[in-house]
Amino acid sequence: MEDCVFCKIINREIKSEIVHEDDFCVAFKDINPKKRVHLLIVPKKHIPKVSDIKEGDEKLMGHLIKTAKELAEKNSSEHYQLLFNVGKEAGQVVFHAHLHLMGN
Ligand code: AMP
Ligand code: ZN
Repeated sequence: MEDCVFCKIINREIKSEIVHEDDFCVAFKDINPKKRVHLLIVPKKHIPKVSDIKEGDEKLMGHLIKTAKELAEKNSSEHYQLLFNVGKEAGQVVFHAHLHLMGN
C-alpha cells in the first residue's frame, strides 16, 4: 500500500528498530514510547483498522497476539497492556492495524 508508513517499515523503505519478523508480521519499537517497553506488532497484510478484518483473518489475528505474548515474555514483566486503537476518535493515527504491547 503506497503512502502507508507501516508498509514502508515492513518493506524497509523507512528505518525502524525491528525486533521480530516472521512470514505474517513484524514487530518494532514505537518511535514515541509510552512505557519502558512499547512495541508495535503489525501484520504484513495491509488491513487499515482491526475492524476491517475479514473471514479468514482469524489465524493472522491470533498470531499477532501469540507474538505479542512471546515478545512480552522476552522484554517485559508478566503484567503488560495489549491495545488496538480502532478509528480516529479512539486515537488511531496510523491506518495499518497494529497491536500495541506496553509494559514496564
Ligand atoms: P495509533 O495511535 O494506535 O495509530 O498508534 C500509532 C503509533 O505508531 C504511535 O504510538 C506512534 O508513536 C507510532 N509510530 C508512528 N510512526 C512510527 C515510526 N516511523 N516508527 C515507529 N513507530 C511509529
Ligand atoms: Zn500498510
